[in-house]
Amino acid sequence: MASVIVGIMEIDILTIFPEVFGPVLGVSMLKIAQEKNLVKIRVHNLRKWSRDKHKKVDDRPFGGGPGMVMRIEPIYRALEELKSPYSKHILLSPQGKLFNQKYAEKLSRENHLILICGHYEGVDERVRRHLVDEEISIGDYVLTCGELPAMVVIDAVVRLVPGVLGSEDSLKEETFSSGLLEYPQYTRPAVFQGWKVPDILLSGNHKKIEEWRKEEALRRTQEKRPDLWRKIKKIKL
Ligand code: SAM
Repeated sequence: MASVIVGIMEIDILTIFPEVFGPVLGVSMLKIAQEKNLVKIRVHNLRKWSRDKHKKVDDRPFGGGPGMVMRIEPIYRALEELKSPYSKHILLSPQGKLFNQKYAEKLSRENHLILICGHYEGVDERVRRHLVDEEISIGDYVLTCGELPAMVVIDAVVRLVPGVLGSEDSLKEETFSSGLLEYPQYTRPAVFQGWKVPDILLSGNHKKIEEWRKEEALRRTQEKRPDLWRKIKKIKL
């Protein structure tokens, strides 16, 4: 059983393409989070737990049909070795619960996540039924495999772990955190090709800037995401 130090988030990834994670885990916030020892991310090749002489982890579906299905045994054995008293076992799947910022916030409070990346036609249904706690979809479309969804989940979760971002304030104002889209952001130059930054942002009047940002966040959300806007109005009524 893997030992887990409570306080540091641990993430184990079960995949048949371990090589795709390196570049993503090695840059920006994910790199910093690991360097600061705020999160430990381990990538495992699922084939390590295959007893097949060719290290196969898939087989043909019972009842026939196209494609191959990922077998339960290697996944079971991997989980037996990696699990901890705190571990949450998550299957990436287009049939899962839709991932969003609230979901990321919830997962950022966990101590230990084990992410299972599917491939081929998906995984044996018994994995879903007996081995995992949650099934996550990153959107209503079908990808070839679970590696990209796993990276999306890890990125969204890790940046919420306390201490990972330089300023916790940037999280509070971020799109979706407050239920609204974030206000527009500008940087130098103040005028480019005749396109001007709103005067208020150059005024130095912080109270007025804050009011403007609030109004812009409301206006944007109403214009761009009427679905979110309706939810906010419902909560306020
Ligand atoms: N036959 C499956 C079905 O219709 O539900 C789709 C399998 S898909 C080609 C292969 C793997 O990609 C899945 O097992 C899952 O791990 C991953 N995947 C594909 N789309 C996904 C999504 N929207 N969210 C999360 N994982 C996804």
